[in-house]
Amino acid sequence: MYLKRLEIQGFKSFADKVEFEFPSGITAIVGPNGSGKSNVVDSIRWVLGEQSIKNLRGSKMEDVIFAGSADRRPLGMAQVSLTLDNSAGIFDVDFDEVTVTRRLYRSGESEYLINKASSRLKDIQELFMDTGLGREGLSIISQGKVDEILSLKPEDRRGLIEEAAGITRYKYRKREAERKLKDTEDNLIRVQDIVNELEERVGPLGEQAEKARQYREWKQQLDGLELSLEVHDISENQSKEQQLQGKQLQMEDGLAQLSAQLSGQDAALAQLRLDAQQEEANFQQRQQAFYDLQN
Ligand code: ATP
Repeated sequence: MYLKRLEIQGFKSFADKVEFEFPSGITAIVGPNGSGKSNVVDSIRWVLGEQSIKNLRGSKMEDVIFAGSADRRPLGMAQVSLTLDNSAGIFDVDFDEVTVTRRLYRSGESEYLINKASSRLKDIQELFMDTGLGREGLSIISQGKVDEILSLKPEDRRGLIEEAAGITRYKYRKREAERKLKDTEDNLIRVQDIVNELEERVGPLGEQAEKARQYREWKQQLDGLELSLEVHDISENQSKEQQLQGKQLQMEDGLAQLSAQLSGQDAALAQLRLDAQQEEANFQQRQQAFYDLQN
């Protein structure tokens, strides 16, 4: 993998924008103690997504932002962009160059960009996964690491060499695959248990289903019968009502005739009363005449 360019601005001792071009061959950065050489390496670690501030030689993430000097005020933002060659298609993107950028503001807000498009830390990590340029890849050997390697016990050194050769990644993947396999086996056992349990329930469930089917059939029949019974009742009641209405009309007619007769007889009765009164008056007259004659 070929590093092409590194741009640093506001990161640690780099208050002003600094641009490093890495031509083919070896690039050495030379300077007196404390002039900021390791800060260059730190900036590369940082832009690749380093989350451990200890690995960046600070105590809090804000420490990577230029903190000011005797004649300069502190800055509010650190930004590093690293450009890598992708003409060989190492990265899974359709560009000949890949530029990753990381920004951090003093407010704590941070941003990642891949080829100027806003991205997540996860995208950066996934981009470098399998390329050997990662935290564990030993592609960055910082101060003191060589001494550490030389003084390691043979088995630890073996681990380190495995890490550098990229075997660790495959070991990790093997472990992951084995773990997934184990999980899948456990899941299969669970699924088998569930299948067994369900199979036991199939018989009783079949009986219940048959009962439910029978119930539904009978319920439909019952509903049909109840409906026709109601229809029958309604039509019977309607014909009874018609009959009763006929009788009512007849009776009303009879009643009218009777009341006509009654009023006729009332008139006759009144005439008879008049006649009786007349007769009474005649009788009174005659009786008077009789008394007169008698006297
Ligand atoms: P050595 O050769 O001793 O390892 P070096 O050249 O690698 O030194 P670095 O350790 O990279 O130097 O840089 C240290 C310098 O960076 C110090 O002068 C320190 O004050 C400065 N520095 C670190 N962090 C910041 C910051 N946030 N703001 C300003 N300056 C900083």
